[in-house]
Amino acid sequence: MSLEPTPSAAAGGVAPFWRAAGLGRCPRCGQGRLFAGLLNVVPACGECGLDLSAQDSGDGPAVLGIFVLGALTMIGAFLVEFRLEPPLWVHALLWPALLIPASILTMRFAKAALIALTWRQRRG
Ligand SMILES: [Zn+2]
Repeated sequence: MSLEPTPSAAAGGVAPFWRAAGLGRCPRCGQGRLFAGLLNVVPACGECGLDLSAQDSGDGPAVLGIFVLGALTMIGAFLVEFRLEPPLWVHALLWPALLIPASILTMRFAKAALIALTWRQRRG
């Protein structure tokens, strides 16, 4: 995958969706960072100046994380418990160590994807 902007993005078009969502980049130019810190959306793109202050992904990314990661964790916990039968402290260490980074990554991806999709839809 090329990290260079597409000609249409450089001309003020639309960044490739997977670049915007997967790398957390501006939905218009694909170059500027979408996030300041872990999950805060920047007010404007640092590269093309696109106003991102009105972009609100709402509760969608959190709901996705709860449903998907909750289901995967439940399945994983059952498998680990009934196949390996570890002591309880293994569960207490294992699941937070896996879930906290997975939650952040899932929410970053979902937030960037929703912002990219809504921006594309609204620009008409
Ligand atoms: Zn931009």
